[in-house]
Amino acid sequence: MLLEVRDLHVEFRTRDGVAHAVNGVGCHVDAGRTLAVLGESGSGKSVTAQAVMGILDTPPGRITGGQILFQGRDLLTLKGEERRRVRGSAMAMIFQDALSALNPVMTVGDQLGEMFVVHRGMSKKAARAKAVGLMDRVRIPAAAQRARDYPHQFSGGMRQRVMIAMALALEPALVIADEPTTALDVTVQAQIMDLLAELRREYRMGLILITHDLGVVADVADRIAVMYAGRIVESAPVHDLYKAPAHPYTRGLLDSVPRLDQKGRELYAIKGLPPNLTRIPSGCSFHPRCPMARDMCRTEVPPLYEVSDERGSACHFWRECLHG
Ligand code: SF4
Ligand code: MG
Repeated sequence: MLLEVRDLHVEFRTRDGVAHAVNGVGCHVDAGRTLAVLGESGSGKSVTAQAVMGILDTPPGRITGGQILFQGRDLLTLKGEERRRVRGSAMAMIFQDALSALNPVMTVGDQLGEMFVVHRGMSKKAARAKAVGLMDRVRIPAAAQRARDYPHQFSGGMRQRVMIAMALALEPALVIADEPTTALDVTVQAQIMDLLAELRREYRMGLILITHDLGVVADVADRIAVMYAGRIVESAPVHDLYKAPAHPYTRGLLDSVPRLDQKGRELYAIKGLPPNLTRIPSGCSFHPRCPMARDMCRTEVPPLYEVSDERGSACHFWRECLHG
């Protein structure tokens, strides 16, 4: 197993009190596989990724429990230097906003080249050639020329390709992409997703794809973990989940995505809003919004029930949901 997160807890200090952003998350990713982490904003998906990458804003964010096992070693117990080395080259992150993630006053070729100079000890000339090769690999047309341009001179889609090239430069074992296509138009989104899927296969890397959009993950993910209020509420192979969700929240998300095979169907919207993380509802945190809620849901926190070997649901009534 490439990455295994066990019982992770992250808290934030806010003016309203302590926000429980991540409350016992467990998930895993194998080499060459894609895990999609799905949830509304504020569900804890980005915070989980930041904890794995070691880029939580501390303070106010703090890991208060759990393990992050990467290639068998717990990143949370590794000493500073070693931890930095693992995270510096074996893991990489792709952000939603490439423009603010890239250095605005450095050409794209120089930024990419610098990775090889700093981490691989290459000469400037060799690093430049590698940079151009990589830009070509992510299908940036006229790569040698474009290497001399600055980030703002690229379109949104091309800039996201530059980010992907940066992430892949050191051939990491794990890439985390946080809403990599949210800012792009639909056609470009699909191209970027296809590129990511292709590179993931070629490099045999593990990919964690964080998104609020169930529509973008169907074709590229192997597994999906659905997050709500800092917990994973359903975890399943992607096709099983699409066929029959085992959690009412997943069902709501699925029913709110337009589907080609169900033209003319009315789109559903989950009522209400995600909870304030300083005041997470008692029992099942989804109960105020759940169309299936009943009394016990208000008092008893559902564990992640085993639906099958490969599948879990944190709903007391997952059987009804699955077969309903
Ligand atoms: Fe709904 Fe109850 Fe299941 Fe929570 S435990 S998702 S409130 S039915
Ligand atoms: Mg986010």
